[in-house]
Amino acid sequence: MSSYFRRTTCRACEGNKLTEILDLGVMPPANAYVYPENIKKPESKFPLTIHFCLDCYLLQVLDVVSPELLFKNYHYTTGSSEPMRHHFHDYAEKAVRPYISGPTDLVIDIGGNDGLLLEYVKPHARILNIDPADNLEEMSRAKDIPFYPAFFSSKTADDIVAAYGAASVVTANNVFAHIDPIRDVFEGASRLIGDDGVFICEVHWVKHLLDEACFDQIYHEHLCFYSLHALRALIQTSGMTVFDVEIVPTQGQSLRVFAAKNKKAGESVGRILEIERAAGILNVEKYLSFARSVEQNKREAVELIDNLKSRGKRIVGYGAPAKGNTLLNYYGLDNHSIDYLIDSTPAKQGLYSPGALIPIFPPSELNRRPPDFILLLAWNYKEAILRKEASLLERGVKFFVTTPKVFIL
Ligand SMILES: [Zn+2]
Repeated sequence: MSSYFRRTTCRACEGNKLTEILDLGVMPPANAYVYPENIKKPESKFPLTIHFCLDCYLLQVLDVVSPELLFKNYHYTTGSSEPMRHHFHDYAEKAVRPYISGPTDLVIDIGGNDGLLLEYVKPHARILNIDPADNLEEMSRAKDIPFYPAFFSSKTADDIVAAYGAASVVTANNVFAHIDPIRDVFEGASRLIGDDGVFICEVHWVKHLLDEACFDQIYHEHLCFYSLHALRALIQTSGMTVFDVEIVPTQGQSLRVFAAKNKKAGESVGRILEIERAAGILNVEKYLSFARSVEQNKREAVELIDNLKSRGKRIVGYGAPAKGNTLLNYYGLDNHSIDYLIDSTPAKQGLYSPGALIPIFPPSELNRRPPDFILLLAWNYKEAILRKEASLLERGVKFFVTTPKVFIL
């Protein structure tokens, strides 16, 4: 299988009325952190553009990099950040538990990462984590969470139903954004829940992406940016009905969508569809205006950073999340502008950010080589980081963000 291709049809409805919205350039996959021994070798880089489907309203990356290349050794673990632990605990209690009727019920998490959600479900039901990443299998099993190593598909779903029976609850959180043959994946989820189960998925809400111009959410691992309109249409293709929706604060704003085969749409569904309609989510102009603000954002951010560098300031990046790599690469930054990145995830320390090739250190580097300015790449944890780093602020170090606006805090 070739490692890259560009789709010519919509991934959801297979139509061909696609309008290009934004071209972010050519860059490596955002999770392709570089080992020191490979620093001189050329990286695999691919175009990154987003298109809008005029038929089903799905905003999507048509540039598809092979999942084997993207996910076999995945450095993002959900369990590593405190806010995510809190989120998944809440998720297990409020969203999943109401649909568990007893300890023999089966709960499956598709793309369950290191098993964080299931850890909280485990006392109440049988559980199964489906994920393709080798390094996550070890972490999941270490927590005694059964692991099924696979890229999810309708075929995988059939194998699982044959071996374990149908599930009462199937969850999939920010994983369906990753998969190109997306219709088959929803078909698989539908088969897993049988006639009576509930499917719950959480996806970053395209309205938030557009309103906040947080273009750094766009990378080769994030192929789809869902509105409820687009997601509901897809879910219906597999015979399920969306019966409930909530807006939750993950990644700014996400949709938590509940679907089943034997339930009717509740009030929340019509209400959120109407919010989207009123916000212009069905209109291509909304997306083009987003693209213009992203291009303007790049000009302002690069100007600020050039200005700081011309005054001899040392700038470092706080956090080395995948989204930070889209941002660094789109801005065209490298280790001449950003001295280093710090990240508390041990697996990333000692590596280099893909494309920009900026070295990643543990947070202690901030004391060894104090910066003048800190670019918050993990901007979604802004408040928590500022609280944690109060002593740096007292010493005169300044923090800044560039999304949604270029702003010195
Ligand atoms: Zn479409």
